[in-house]
Amino acid sequence: MAGEWVQGKAEELFGEFFPGSWESLGNGVYQGSCPGAHLHSKGSAKADCRIYCGFGPGGETPGAYCFHSGCKGVLGQMNDDFRSKLFEKSNQRRTSEAKKTGIAPAPQAPKQKPVNELYDEARLKAAVQGMAPVTPEWFMERSPVDPRGVMPGEFLEAIFDPGERAIIFDKFTSPGDFAWEVGKGGYRLGRTPEIGAVKSRLPLDGGKDGIWFLSNPVSLKWEPSPRNDGKPSRRIKECVTSWKYLVLESDDAPEELWLKFLAKMPDCIRAIYSSGGRSWHALLCVYAPSWAHMDGILKGVPSGANAGQRMGAKKMLAIYGADPGAMTPVRLTRLPSCTRGGKEQKLIYLNPAPKGGLNEKGEWAMEPIVDKPKRRDLA
Ligand SMILES: [Zn+2]
Repeated sequence: MAGEWVQGKAEELFGEFFPGSWESLGNGVYQGSCPGAHLHSKGSAKADCRIYCGFGPGGETPGAYCFHSGCKGVLGQMNDDFRSKLFEKSNQRRTSEAKKTGIAPAPQAPKQKPVNELYDEARLKAAVQGMAPVTPEWFMERSPVDPRGVMPGEFLEAIFDPGERAIIFDKFTSPGDFAWEVGKGGYRLGRTPEIGAVKSRLPLDGGKDGIWFLSNPVSLKWEPSPRNDGKPSRRIKECVTSWKYLVLESDDAPEELWLKFLAKMPDCIRAIYSSGGRSWHALLCVYAPSWAHMDGILKGVPSGANAGQRMGAKKMLAIYGADPGAMTPVRLTRLPSCTRGGKEQKLIYLNPAPKGGLNEKGEWAMEPIVDKPKRRDLA
């Protein structure tokens, strides 16, 4: 059915564009408080706003629709952002749809604003020039820990420190479904502040959407969100206990170039894993002492020691194809070894005690993966 792919992608994406907690009504329809509720002229209710991830019953385009009108501007902007991400690069699928029906898709105006305007393939090619081919198997052969058969809990033990807690999601927009405390194991979380957690194994089967974790450790306490009318949440920056990692992913760079780039990065990569397809995500060590430091690393500081520090990681890495939208310190990312749509979110590299990253003196010791020895043969 036309538009089926839209719904899947929209359900994966919408949590990034519409803040708040959304309750599924089935068929890709979600209900919740309006993100623009502060602009309503009459009282707001929890069910005022709906998000359609497919095309709605009245022919609605995917997006958020509110019963009120005061929020129109805010929702309009969120819808624009959401739809431009949702429909990017959709030509291929539209063409194959057209083949089936014989009806051509409506001609589109040329895309005005690519998602990552900074991406410069010539610079990426220059950066990896002369490198021998790098494949997922190449990383598996060099990974300090053999990535085959690493369970999700073992992965979290390796990337977080004793006592730190990971929050895990089997629904992208939920308040948190599972947790892992390093040294203690897995828990299933209550869905409201009144309900405590119980010991549990972590899920492996992520259904069609997969399993996610927040890229930095959290307190697991509910904190009021200053950006969402003080509503309590367990997945906002106020809950983060340590600013360790950034997630690098690329929608733009070809796989071959992207893997070479990751292999050559001088910054420490803790792990590399797939989204359940051929898209490779890297967990990059940052170890910022505070949110403000993390923000400075991302956005750049005028007093930076080199051009990269002045420009900021977000812009600099975007030039080489990293998705700037994914480079946020509170980022949900795929939990390796779980499945998405029956395919493994595959771990190909895991470095729990790297030479890169901070050493015991607090200095950066930079050794790219390409300089590391091959440790095993994949038979
Ligand atoms: Zn509204």
